[in-house]
Amino acid sequence: MSDKRIGAEAVAEKGWLRAHQWLILRRLSQSGILALFLLGPLAGIWLVKGNLNYSYTLDFLPLTDPYVALQSLATGHLPESLGLVGLLIAALFYFLVGGRVYCAWVCPVNMVTDAAGWLRDRLGIKGSAHLGRNTRYWILGMTFLGSALSGVVLWELINPVSMLHRGLIFGLGAAWTVVLAVFLFDLFVMSRGWCGRLCPVGAFYSLLGRWSPLRVSATKRAACNNCMDCFEVCPEPQVIRPALKGEEKGVGPVILAPNCTNCGRCIDVCSKDVFSFGLRFHNPPSTARPE
Ligand code: SF4
Ligand code: SF4
Repeated sequence: MSDKRIGAEAVAEKGWLRAHQWLILRRLSQSGILALFLLGPLAGIWLVKGNLNYSYTLDFLPLTDPYVALQSLATGHLPESLGLVGLLIAALFYFLVGGRVYCAWVCPVNMVTDAAGWLRDRLGIKGSAHLGRNTRYWILGMTFLGSALSGVVLWELINPVSMLHRGLIFGLGAAWTVVLAVFLFDLFVMSRGWCGRLCPVGAFYSLLGRWSPLRVSATKRAACNNCMDCFEVCPEPQVIRPALKGEEKGVGPVILAPNCTNCGRCIDVCSKDVFSFGLRFHNPPSTARPE
């Protein structure tokens, strides 16, 4: 078993609630979105119709998943005008707030992979298979190529994100096995392996949010006490180092790497309040405090 509890210092310093505030908000967001989709089929209250790929809210707001829409375009199928409007709205939203906000705040698989990560930490499972972080971009490219060659949106046949979301609304069926496979993969084979190495949905959204203004920043990095809790808790720890430790190299404190999911967990678990949400534009190379 692991002897060091990640975030224990933050809980002691800030209290449990403040050391979990972004996590709680994310879970409310993920489950709230799911509940909105469930209200129709389960209670006949159709605030939102559809699923994560395409939805229509209050008979007014269309939202189309840009990744699914582009794969559909690759097959030669042009979405209807409402679908195109939904595509523009969703793409603009994720461009502004950070593409991988989808992963942290919307995707239901995130709860599964977070659970695997949590259990891995509790069980003290060490060691991990190796796969390059760019693997997901190769898979992303293959999904477009495969769609273009086959005329079918291929990834949607096996996409755990869509399968879990549809399954939770209409009954899981065989989707259980795919979701369980993702959980077991992250638990035993590779730490944060699915989202961090394989999922082309996350890869697509990281490209969409490449230049997003909303960013997490290590604004108070001079106060860092090297406890490493932010690295431990981050689903993409490689994004933290340049911003947190780059002052001597003239690197600013804003986390510019597009794979940051804006999940806010680094903000939660930092007992020194090093991190905060901000914009990419104010990124001074030095954050040293005057003596
Ligand atoms: S990487 Fe994929 S499965 Fe993981 S949270 Fe993002 S969209 Fe969901
Ligand atoms: S850097 Fe912070 S906000 Fe970004 S993914 Fe890591 S823990 Fe989440």
